[in-house]
Formats: sequence, structure tokens, C-alpha cells
Amino acid sequence: MIKPEAVAAGHSGKIIDLILSNGFTIVALKYTRLSHEEAGTFYAVHKERPFYGELVEYMAGGPIIAAILEKSNAVEDFRKLIGATDPADAAEGTIRKQFAESKAKNAVHGSDSDENASIEGAFFFSTREQH
Ligand code: ADP
Ligand code: MG
Repeated sequence: MIKPEAVAAGHSGKIIDLILSNGFTIVALKYTRLSHEEAGTFYAVHKERPFYGELVEYMAGGPIIAAILEKSNAVEDFRKLIGATDPADAAEGTIRKQFAESKAKNAVHGSDSDENASIEGAFFFSTREQH
């Protein structure tokens, strides 16, 4: 997912270009917006964390771009490409290093396991939208 502040700042094209040039292919792609309820569901694993309310507000605060990406070792390689959660800790050349505003507003989301990638992909896309 390209998060609301990165979409609003006009970084979407550059971020998608980095994703493609790093060997990922697009299986599904959508410009959309999460309701508060949907953002709460998407981030339900963080329900008990102190930043949950702030995270839901932020993620419902503007349009996002959702994608399903394909590559061998995709989850691990994508997390390497996006960099650490906090851009202050993210390696040079990573998407978060280049485009994140802060630990909270960090430009992109990446799934943390193959299982969650399937769940999150199905959250946004019907099978008809995946190619
Ligand atoms: P990641 O997105 O790197 O997998 P997490 O799963 O730990 O990171 O957190 C989910 C999202 O919640 C982060 O990408 C960020 O937007 C937000 N977040 C994480 N930690 C904090 C924090 N301490 N304060 C505010 N927002 C946070
Ligand atoms: Mg996470």
C-alpha cells in the first residue's frame, strides 16, 4: 500500500517505479480510500498498541494505492526495499528513507508474511481483479 501522505505528496509514480525496477511485478492495483472501519480492520493486529487510534485516523485520512505484488521471496525482499518502520533507521536507497515523513507517516505498507499477504490481498481485491 502507498499510504495517504505519500499519495497526497505526489510520490506514487516514483514509488511504483522503484517497485518495478526492483523486480516486482503487479498482480493487482487500485486507487481507493479506506473508511475508518476498514482501516481499523486492516490494522486489527495493532488494536492494543498505543498508536492504534492515530494509525486508523491517518490511514483513513485520504486515498491510498493498494497493490498485490509478485516476486520470488517477495515479502522479505519488499520489506528490504521499503526499509525500517522509522525512516531514521531505514537504510539509504530504501523507499521509506526517501519518502517517509516520520515513523507514523512512513509512505508504504508491506505485508509481514505470506499468510498476511494473502489476507491483505483479499481485503482489497476480488480474484477477478488479480492477473
Ligand atoms: P511496519 O509497517 O514496518 O510493519 P508495524 O507493523 O510495527 O510496522 O506498524 C504498523 C504501522 O503503524 C507503521 O507502518 C506505522 O505507520 C505505524 N506505527 C508503528 N509504530 C508507531 C509508533 N510508535 N507511533 C505511531 N505510529 C506507529
Ligand atoms: Mg507491520
